[in-house]
Amino acid sequence: MSIKITDLSHIYDRNTPNETVAIDQINLTIESGQFVGLIGHTGSGKSTLIQHLNGLLKPSEGEIVVSGYNITEGLDQTHSKKRSQRKKEARARKKKLIEVRRRVGLVFQYPEYQLFEETVEKDVAFGPLNLGLSDADAIERVKEALSLVGMDYNDYKDRSPFDLSGGQKRRVAIAGVLAMKPEVLILDEPTAGLDPKGRDEILGQIKHLHEKEGMTVIIVSHSMEDMAKISERLIVMNRGRIVLDGHPKEVFKHI
Ligand code: ADP
Ligand code: ADP
Repeated sequence: MSIKITDLSHIYDRNTPNETVAIDQINLTIESGQFVGLIGHTGSGKSTLIQHLNGLLKPSEGEIVVSGYNITEGLDQTHSKKRSQRKKEARARKKKLIEVRRRVGLVFQYPEYQLFEETVEKDVAFGPLNLGLSDADAIERVKEALSLVGMDYNDYKDRSPFDLSGGQKRRVAIAGVLAMKPEVLILDEPTAGLDPKGRDEILGQIKHLHEKEGMTVIIVSHSMEDMAKISERLIVMNRGRIVLDGHPKEVFKHI
């Protein structure tokens, strides 16, 4: 499943004094099975870009096609179109977004925002149950997903996610996304706030997932060193643009 972005721009607070061009005409293709590190300073547009990959934001301009679904089609809601036509297009887009969000799992920078049930088990089961799986099948998914992030189901299932350490919370958040069996896993700063040991563990597990499950992985980070070590493609953003893109060895020649 590939992701293809064409001439994507994102402007916050357009036509106001706070207008910010967060994404400036980006073109990008990510092929199935790649392990991509997305790096750049704070404010370079990384978070905005990944939110577009599963349709959380509406682009100001451009086209996004995920796994053959053009999620930007029908966004041009000009008043020249009939109301009924606009409604039809909005419904079609919603359907496509559901399909795309099933395939593209996003783990936010602050896992707290992604945890909301009173036990780890319920939290990780939320996605699968929402997909319509039976309780038994959802529990299988929970066991599998927790084991993929190195957590024992029996040890953690009844714990409150809010009482866990930062690294454990992040693992539960990742497990919640993995339980949906996404084809693409996107993580925003998955090592933020962790000590070096916690960082190595999380990155090791993500790398393992990529190798074992063939999952496409996109990691947003501002740690050039971490990403150079584990990714096979490094994309460097600056001021809303992609300024370097290639194998870490190639990218480092230009830094
Ligand atoms: P990071 O570089 O780690 O992504 P930021 O400080 O850029 O952290 O952003 C943290 C959050 O605040 C993001 O969700 C981002 O969308 C939001 N944010 C950043 N800048 C603004 C802004 N000027 N106005 C409103 N929200 C913002
Ligand atoms: P990064 O993830 O690389 O830190 P962001 O995508 O968060 O970058 O931010 C890119 C630019 O957009 C920054 O100038 C930021 O302040 C601005 N921005 C991000 N989110 C918002 C928002 N919700 N409202 C307004 N401006 C925002």
